[in-house]
Amino acid sequence: MEGLEEARARIEQASRVAVLTGAGISAPSGIPTFRDPGGLWENFRLEDYATPEGFAKNPEEVWRWYAWRYARVRQAKPNPAHHLLAELEAQKGDGFLLVTQNVDGLHQRAGSKRVVELHGSILRARCTRCGHTEPLPPPESFEPPPRCARCGTLMRPDVVWFGELLPAGALEKAQAAFAHAEVALVIGTSALVEPAASLGRLSKMAGGYLIEINPEPTPLTPVADLSLREGAVEGLARLLKAQA
Ligand code: NAD
Ligand code: ZN
Repeated sequence: MEGLEEARARIEQASRVAVLTGAGISAPSGIPTFRDPGGLWENFRLEDYATPEGFAKNPEEVWRWYAWRYARVRQAKPNPAHHLLAELEAQKGDGFLLVTQNVDGLHQRAGSKRVVELHGSILRARCTRCGHTEPLPPPESFEPPPRCARCGTLMRPDVVWFGELLPAGALEKAQAAFAHAEVALVIGTSALVEPAASLGRLSKMAGGYLIEINPEPTPLTPVADLSLREGAVEGLARLLKAQA
């Protein structure tokens, strides 16, 4: 495939690479996405569990759901797609940035260091009063809802809910990386939620080479230079692994 060869050469030559990942990259690790069939929203009402209003109404119930997801995430392992991105970072160094919408911490567990978590982390709690954050205890000893060690107030999951702002500086850092990237990779995101929808476009407009990996077409597909219609593990292996 001609496009694939060009993409491989571009990645090899690039010194500035920006990557955006979504729930799809963690699906092969057994963590369900939100929107796919069998995804999390089929069984849960989004507005009850992932909004500030839902939490205010029933913090115990919201925490039960997060504690369950947290336990699953802790059991899951990074997959070859996470590992390949950590290797790419090791090759590119300072010119590399990985932006993720995932809250599962699997990129860091695979060895990625230059990571921007746009939507926070399910591994942490944050005080609803003073903002103090803390890692959750191991799932076996975790009894939600947690209280702040500093001020005793109820804590919430340290994630971004619908209608909330992204963590300070995260978007700016992501946008700068995508605007300057020679190659941008968008993997496993439906590209429906902002800012995921616009980061890939930003690279394109600035003259970057845009690659998408997703088994399904997305709104980004028509603008991508190469769109691999396959899973993250298979797609990244074809792009990044030395040919045998
Ligand atoms: P999404 O659920 O909207 O979309 C997932 C995308 O992954 C889809 O486009 C689907 O076609 C694709 N996909 C499915 N299997 C794949 C595979 N094997 N390889 C590559 N792609 C695959 O997820 P989203 O766009 O990331 O956004 C929803 C929000 O849900 C995010 O903001 C995130 O915070 C949250 N979320 C996080 C996790 C996680 O941390 N693992 C899991 C579920 C949801
Ligand atoms: Zn506090």
